[in-house]
Amino acid sequence: MEEEAPVALKRRARRINRILAETYPYAVAELDFHNAFELLVATVLSAQTTDVRVNLTTPALFARYPDARALAEADESELQEIIRPTGFYRAKANSLLSLSRRLVDEFDGEVPGRLNDLVTLPGVGRKTANVVLGNAFDVPGITVDTHFGRLARRFRWTTSDDPVKVELDVGVLFDRKDWTALSHHVVFHGRRICHAKKPACGVCPVAALCPAYGEGEVDPIKAAKLLKYELAPGRGELLELMRSGKSRAELRAAGHGLGA
Ligand code: SF4
Repeated sequence: MEEEAPVALKRRARRINRILAETYPYAVAELDFHNAFELLVATVLSAQTTDVRVNLTTPALFARYPDARALAEADESELQEIIRPTGFYRAKANSLLSLSRRLVDEFDGEVPGRLNDLVTLPGVGRKTANVVLGNAFDVPGITVDTHFGRLARRFRWTTSDDPVKVELDVGVLFDRKDWTALSHHVVFHGRRICHAKKPACGVCPVAALCPAYGEGEVDPIKAAKLLKYELAPGRGELLELMRSGKSRAELRAAGHGLGA
């Protein structure tokens, strides 16, 4: 494979992002939250499970423990029961207790808005910190989760498996102000079309710009059957509502399931 000149790579990367932005104009964080504390907790809970499951669990959790002070004093077994549906609930309860105690002891009960502080919190790595910064503090951040890493490699934006290196390689291709939205577009694309095992290449809007085209199903009819979430066959109404700007909370209140 020929080496792509840096300027051509940047141009192609930005075209991909523009098309993904048009494809998923409603792309935002899929975790429900009202403030930085809720997003931080929800992100910790989202390890090894789906955002849909976390969103089903957090309303009861935040009703019981609305802030770091309340959570820091939680009874561990009660907390475990509430978060049990998210899996690994013992370890997660432990993380949440240590995390909220640290917030109370060192940050006056508030979530800090700096990467260097966030990553000192128990259970909070760079990925979680970037999610919180980008979505609760409007500080641009590239969130390298499993979807983002896989797609960045398929797009040849990076060759690395190391999330920090991926973040650096991709960061230079885009303006800083676009980092958070880029993260959402790429993750949405990974969940809905460019899946790990069977990417739906035959219906992919960025197929012409993707060096990995053909890694998945190229027949459009077969590929369409692989689509997930609001793009899944038979979910046209939900897709239209999302495109019309309805919020995820409004859609759920109207009885729409937002999962795959
Ligand atoms: S062409 Fe295939 S591999 Fe490339 S982004 Fe689209 S679905 Fe993914």
